[in-house]
Amino acid sequence: MTSGESQNTKGQGGLIRAALFGLCPRCDARTLWDAPAAFAPVCRSCELAFAAFEPRGRGLYFVLLPLTFVLIGGSLKLDEALRPPLWLLMGLIVVVVPGTIVGTLRLLKAALLLARLRAAGVVA
Ligand SMILES: [Zn+2]
Repeated sequence: MTSGESQNTKGQGGLIRAALFGLCPRCDARTLWDAPAAFAPVCRSCELAFAAFEPRGRGLYFVLLPLTFVLIGGSLKLDEALRPPLWLLMGLIVVVVPGTIVGTLRLLKAALLLARLRAAGVVA
């Protein structure tokens, strides 16, 4: 059980490192992200083809749509509870909404990429 737990911890570390720091799962070079939430086509260091394993399609909407509703609801509740000035509320929305969406997308896409790379036997 100890080795299983350490492997699980290692996997979560790989996910965080890939999502937050953009480290390639195979060579640890900082080459994963080309845009805030889009993979580079290939790793510039070890030439691992990220694009071949990139999650595409409508599957991500099942996470982004509920998240959008939560963010809208949170904004309305914040406005109702604190009645902040409009400029402050708009400023918060402009910063928090894209940050939350991009952060969630990065976590989700990195998790799917790692799962697909492991299933294909590319990384351990
Ligand atoms: Zn690499």
